[in-house]
Amino acid sequence: MSELRAKRPVVIAIDGPAASGKSSTSKWVAERLGVHHADSGALYRAATAARLRAEGAPDVWTEQSVLAAAAAVTFVPGKTSFEVRLDGTAADEELRGAGVTDQVSLVAKMPSVRAWVNERIRECALGSSIVVDGRDMGTAVFPDAALKIFLIADPWERARRRLVQRLGRSPSEDEIAVETDDIVKRDAKDATQTQQAADAILIDTTYLTQAEQVDRIVALARAVGG
Ligand code: C5P
Repeated sequence: MSELRAKRPVVIAIDGPAASGKSSTSKWVAERLGVHHADSGALYRAATAARLRAEGAPDVWTEQSVLAAAAAVTFVPGKTSFEVRLDGTAADEELRGAGVTDQVSLVAKMPSVRAWVNERIRECALGSSIVVDGRDMGTAVFPDAALKIFLIADPWERARRRLVQRLGRSPSEDEIAVETDDIVKRDAKDATQTQQAADAILIDTTYLTQAEQVDRIVALARAVGG
């Protein structure tokens, strides 16, 4: 049963830059609150993966060709999160792969692709409370969200966390330096679409554990939903 006791469904929007821990934190917050989670970045990645499957160099990708390819993407409610399917099957590894990561910012700049993602995400929020995460959930997509969080962390710390997750061990300083460079470059590529809402609560997670971030957001969500 949902722990959010709001009379009407509430939206909790969690935004932030690359590797700020948005998706894992959002998923955990949603589980604690007993509501679903939807990751908008996964939809941008899925549209990109679908277009990559359809071939053609990125410089000849048109919005129409990306949208046509995105018809192969479905977003279905799983146990706790909405899950992306590509041609009917899960493709998580492909979505997180370097090919998609290299091209996704280009695809995310296409206005009709943004409209397509936003429509899918709004559909997920119809009739029930939800935690959504991305770059513009609290601004473009859910300007009236009951709670808006903007997560930030020092780029070096974001790089370190990402490597620990990927490698399953403590990374060296050199490895962190290379990854930090990548993260800073992606921040620059995504700068226009990464928006902190004026009424968002900023949480710097550099010195927080994930459990601490989750506790803070859950407490804030209970305050708006109870
Ligand atoms: O969050 P994630 O890194 O998976 O997002 C992949 C990409 O999707 C981002 O680098 C960004 O270009 C785009 N994105 C966006 N707006 C969102 C979510 C993601 O532009 N709301």
